Amino acid sequence: MVLKKLPEKGMSREQVMSALNEFRTNDADWRGAKTWSLVYFAGEDILEVAKAAYLAFFSENGLNPLAFQSLKRFENEAAAMTAQMLGGGPDAAGTLSSGGTESILLAVKTARDWARANKPEVKAPEMILPLTAHPAFEKAGHYFNVRSVHIPLDAELRADAEAARKAITKNTILIAGSAACYPYGVIDPIEKLAGIAQENGILFHTDACLGGFILPFLKKLGREIPAFDLSVPGVTSISADLHKYGYAAKGASAVIYKTSELRKFQFYVYTDWPGGVYPSPSMTGTRPGGAIAAAWAVMNYLGESGYLRLADKAMKLSQKLTDGINAIPGLKVMARPDMCVFAFSSDRVNVYELGDLMEAKGWQLDRLQMPPALHMIVTPNHEKIIEPFLAELRSAARQLESKGKGDIAGMAAVYGMVGTLPDRKAARQLVLNFLDDIFKNQ
Ligand SMILES: *Cc1c(COP(=O)(O)O)cnc(C)c1O
Repeated sequence: MVLKKLPEKGMSREQVMSALNEFRTNDADWRGAKTWSLVYFAGEDILEVAKAAYLAFFSENGLNPLAFQSLKRFENEAAAMTAQMLGGGPDAAGTLSSGGTESILLAVKTARDWARANKPEVKAPEMILPLTAHPAFEKAGHYFNVRSVHIPLDAELRADAEAARKAITKNTILIAGSAACYPYGVIDPIEKLAGIAQENGILFHTDACLGGFILPFLKKLGREIPAFDLSVPGVTSISADLHKYGYAAKGASAVIYKTSELRKFQFYVYTDWPGGVYPSPSMTGTRPGGAIAAAWAVMNYLGESGYLRLADKAMKLSQKLTDGINAIPGLKVMARPDMCVFAFSSDRVNVYELGDLMEAKGWQLDRLQMPPALHMIVTPNHEKIIEPFLAELRSAARQLESKGKGDIAGMAAVYGMVGTLPDRKAARQLVLNFLDDIFKNQ
């Protein structure tokens, strides 16, 4: 990196703030609803509540819940409300974490340690994951030495449950499924998958990071939502992100276990440190009190009626978008999304080029691969841009069709290359170098 010295003398508060605001001028415009991932925004009032709660507990540290009884209460109540919402019984127990990835890391670590205690026949632990499972599971496997075994999808892009049955070995400790999966917004056959886990005496995790704060409300609104939560026999843990459709401040997710016995395998305790006996509920040491307070605040501010209203709105907007995209010649929404997240592909134009064209007009659409597709996460904030978005997408698709398949340039070329390189090790190296570069330059 190009080394940089601390400023000799500090700046004034005004100078600091003006620099911060200047640096953000080219950031993605989530408030204007130009982004389709990363920020889940449902209105200024909710944001104000989250910010006020965050600031009120800005300095408090959730590492020691005995020092901050307030945070202990916020965390336990937020986890308890999540558990109730997601089919937990009186024995259910959970904690908050810093996000979906940490919740999944914790669930996999819990499964590994549970197996160490209960399944001595396991020599090299394995978990069974649908191809669409979030990379947080791969990361967990990498960190905790649990080998991932992938199962394919069926025609509706849901995990093929029978393939899970066949993939079980004496080393399998965990099966996972998504509700819904990030790429296509479809729910895996959780009842079947969890049933297979139960028959084989192993654990099952539902990744409801994305759907946890949408699906229960869509169900209450009368939509058909297949069972996915802790009430399903065999489901032993579930994760749900408060900082996604829970609309809390970033740094908040919940992981809930069927029993507190199981949750004990999540906790870490070191008793022999000169610095003191060290118990820690999750992966991190210091835990920002603001994120915990904001999660509690937003859940209580919105209440069930608030979440119902927002889920209804996001789902209706999502249906307008999927109908609108399916009406554009050459574009097609993949599978039948169970929630307000979906992908679309094309048999006529290169969707990566389409993504580039839309980006040139200010729209940020994530690129999927295998097969190439563009991805959309719909929030209530998108209401104001549905029509202009569809109009620009229609015109961009038409422009590409008339151009024909010429040379592909820009990001489209990069995505095309990474997605299709037969040598996946080389693809990984390419992305590693790219990442190295990002964290090198200002
Ligand atoms: C977002 C997401 C995750 C990871 O959550 P982070 O908060 O980004 O760490 C895991 N699973 C699913 C299905 C998700 O949508």
